[in-house]
Amino acid sequence: MDPQSQQFLQIAVPSPLRRRFDYLPPHGSHPDTFTPGQRFLVPFGSRKLVGVLLNVHSHTDIDPSKLKHALSCLDEEAVIPAPLIELCCWASRYYHHPVGEVFANAIPSLMRQGEPAESKKHWSWKPTEAGVIVTAASFKKNARRQIEALEILQQHPNGLALPMLKTLGVKTMPLEALAKKGYAEKYLRDTTPEKLNSQTLFKESPLLLNEYQQPAVHAVIKALDHAPAGTEPHEAKTKPETDSTPNSSKTQSKNPTPSLSTTFLLNGVTGSGKTEVYLHLAAHCLQQNKQVLILVPEIGLTSQTISRFQSRFNCYVAALHSGLSERERLEHWLMAQKGDAPIIIGTRSAIFTPLARPGLIIIDEEHDLSYCQQDGFRYSARDLAIVRGSIEKIPVLLGSATPSFESIANANNGRYQQLQLQNRVSDGKLPQPKLVDIRSNPLKEGLNSASLHAIKAHLDNNNQVLIFVNRRGYAPVIICHHCGWTHQCQFCDSAMTVHQSPPHMLCHHCASTRAIPKQCPKCDQPKLQTMGFGTEKLEDFLNQEFDQYEIIRVDRDSVKGKTGWDKKLKQIHRGEPAILLGTQMLTKGHHFPNVTLVIIADGDSGLFSVDFRAPERLAQLIVQVSGRAGRGSTPGEVLIQTHQPDHPLLHSLLSQGYGPFAQQSLDERRDAQLPPYGYMAILRAQAQYKNQCMEFLTQAFELISPIQHQYPTLQSVQILEPTLAPMEKRAGRYRAQSLLLCPTRKPLHQLLSQWIPALESIKEGNRVRWHLEVDPIEIV
Ligand code: ADP
Ligand code: ZN
Ligand code: ZN
Repeated sequence: MDPQSQQFLQIAVPSPLRRRFDYLPPHGSHPDTFTPGQRFLVPFGSRKLVGVLLNVHSHTDIDPSKLKHALSCLDEEAVIPAPLIELCCWASRYYHHPVGEVFANAIPSLMRQGEPAESKKHWSWKPTEAGVIVTAASFKKNARRQIEALEILQQHPNGLALPMLKTLGVKTMPLEALAKKGYAEKYLRDTTPEKLNSQTLFKESPLLLNEYQQPAVHAVIKALDHAPAGTEPHEAKTKPETDSTPNSSKTQSKNPTPSLSTTFLLNGVTGSGKTEVYLHLAAHCLQQNKQVLILVPEIGLTSQTISRFQSRFNCYVAALHSGLSERERLEHWLMAQKGDAPIIIGTRSAIFTPLARPGLIIIDEEHDLSYCQQDGFRYSARDLAIVRGSIEKIPVLLGSATPSFESIANANNGRYQQLQLQNRVSDGKLPQPKLVDIRSNPLKEGLNSASLHAIKAHLDNNNQVLIFVNRRGYAPVIICHHCGWTHQCQFCDSAMTVHQSPPHMLCHHCASTRAIPKQCPKCDQPKLQTMGFGTEKLEDFLNQEFDQYEIIRVDRDSVKGKTGWDKKLKQIHRGEPAILLGTQMLTKGHHFPNVTLVIIADGDSGLFSVDFRAPERLAQLIVQVSGRAGRGSTPGEVLIQTHQPDHPLLHSLLSQGYGPFAQQSLDERRDAQLPPYGYMAILRAQAQYKNQCMEFLTQAFELISPIQHQYPTLQSVQILEPTLAPMEKRAGRYRAQSLLLCPTRKPLHQLLSQWIPALESIKEGNRVRWHLEVDPIEIV
C-alpha cells in the first residue's frame, strides 16, 4: 500500500462513544500538512460531523481498509491551540467523559457547525459631542431606556462594542433612537488590538492599594514575572495521573502530567478590595501584553464587575455568557484566540477560551457552585482552571470571602499560596450574627416578634432591611385539614408549591404546573389551606405589616432577565428605607450600603442534611448574606432564626468565625476520609421503572470485583451497594446511585477507566440513562 496512506488522522468526533476515531486524510491531501487543532468534516454513520484533529499517527487499531476518508479540512491552520487540546483531553480522562463531547462543549456552537473561524467586523457605539453633554432632563419621561443607554455611553466616550452594550443591559432600539436625535453614533470597530502603554492603558486612574492589598498584588506579580512559576513536583489536588491504566506506566511517561504553576487563594471578606486587586493584576498583565481570563459565577448578577473592568481600561473587554448571540460568542472567542481581546470575562464554560498570550486566570467567588456543570459533561471550571494554569504555566488566582473547604485545605498544605485581606476597605465593621430562638415564640408568616421589632427599628431609622428566604413561591404545601390530602407532583416524589402571582401550582423539581384546586379532590371539602411560607407569602404579609415602606422582592419569579435585575438594583440603590426580600439571588455579588439589618428566616435548613458538605454550604450562606449588611458607616445587625439555638454547628460558626469553623470541619472530614482527604465518584442511573435502574447498578456493581481481582492495587476502592435516591422519582423517572470511595486518587481513577467502558456492554443499559460524576458536589 502507498506509505502515504499509512498515516491516520485521530479525530475527536462529537459522539457519546468514549473513544477517538481514526480517519484517512481527505482524498488528494497529504497527512503531513495537518496540525492538531484543525477541524475536519467527517462521515459518521449516515451523518457528517465536525471533529477536531488530535493527532496524526501511523498506528490504528482498526483494519485500515475499513477506515473512511475525512471529507475536508475546514481550517487553514489550527484554530484550537495546543494547550486547549491538552486541557480537553485531560478533562476527558479525568471526568471519564467522551472526548468528542468535551470538545463540543469547549468550542462555540458555530464552530461545531463548521462556520469559518473568521471574524466579521461588527458595530460599536459612542456618544456624539452633543451626546456627551446632554442630560436626562432633555428627554421625555417615557424615554427611560434611552436615558439609561446614554448614561452608559457617557461613561465610555471612546465607544463600546454592541455585545458589551448588551452585556451591560442596553438594547439596539434605544441606541437607534439616540442616533436619530444626534446623541449617539454607530461605527465599525477596528479589531486590531490596541497598542497600550502605561499612559494609554487607563481610562480612570487605579486606586492606591492599602496595606493589605499591596502584599497580595505583589505576591501574584512576582509569580507573573517569573512564569513559568513555582514548579514544585508535588501532586496538585486536581491533577491525578488518570491516563495510566493499572498495568501501563508507559502511557504515563508518554503523556506526563504538566508541572504545577502557582495557585493563589485570595481570602478576603466582602468589601475588602478583592476586585481592586484583580484590577491591579490585570493592569500588570496588560502592560506586559498578556491576556487575563476572569471567571465570574453569573454574568447577570455580576455585571458590576464587568463594568469596573470596562471603566478602568482603554481596551476591549470580551464577555462570554449565555446572553450573547451565537455570532457574538464566536466573535469574542476569536478575539481571545487571536489575542485581540486583552481581557476576557465569562462564566463557567469560558474556562475553555483560547488565549494567544495567556497571563493570568482569576476565579472570582471560587466557592460558588455555578462553577460546576451539572448535566452532560460534568466538570468543575475552578478545578480545570488550576489544571489549565499548569498547562499554560501561568498563575491562577482564586478569590472568595468564603473559600471552599477544599481550597482552604490546599492552602493549609502549601499547594496554594494564601493571601489575606482581613478588613473591609471602608473600615466598616463586620456584623456579628445573633441567633433568634423561635421555638416558643409563634411565627407570623415565618418571622418571630423579635425579628419584627428589629425590622421596625431599622426602618424607622431610615435604613434598609434584607430578609433571606430560601424558598420562592407562596407556600411549599397545600393541604386539606379535613382528610390530610396534599397536592403531590404527579411526576416527582415531592409536593407542589403554591404560587399566587399568577395563581398556579408548580413543581420545583420538574417544572410541571397545575391549577390551584378549589376543593379537596379526595373528600370534596371546599377549604384547602397552605402550610409553610415562601417569598410571595412573606411579601404579602410584610406589605400589610409595614405598609408605609417599599417591599422589594428578588427571586426568579419577580426578576426576569438582566434588565429586571438592574431595575431592582436601581430601586435598592436609591437608598430609601425598604425591605429587600429574596432568595439566593440577593446573596451574590452585590453590596447594599444602606442595609443595616439582615435576617435569615430559616437558619435550620442545612443542619440536618445527610450530605457531608451541608455545613460548608450553610456557613457560606450565613457569611455571604451577612456580608451584604453594614457596608456604609453604620455597623450591621444579623439575626438568624432557628429552632436549634444550641446546635454545635451554628455555635462554633458564630463564636469562632468562618476560618476556624472550616478548620474544625476539615478535621472531621479527615477522620472520616471524606473529600478532600478521600476521593469520590458517583454512578447515577435513571429509568422508567425502579427495578431497571437497580438492575443496571447491580450489574455494574458486580463488574467491580473481577477488575479488582485482576489488579489487586485497586482493592482500596470501596463501592457502596446501589441505593435508590432519597427522592426516588423525579420528572417521571426513578433514580438510583452507587458511591465509590477511595483514600487516594490514583486507584479510583484507574478503576474507573477500566470500569466505565465496561458499563457500555450492560444489557439493561439501553433502558437506563446513566452518568458518572467525579468529585460530586452532592452525594444525596
Ligand atoms: P470586594 O471585591 O472584596 O468585595 P471591592 O474591590 O469591590 O471589594 O472594594 C470594595 C470597595 O472599596 C469598592 O467601592 C472599591 O472601589 C473600594 N476600594 C477597594 N480598594 C480600595 C483602595 N485601595 N482604596 C480606596 N478604595 C478602595
Ligand atoms: Zn380532603
Ligand atoms: Zn415534579
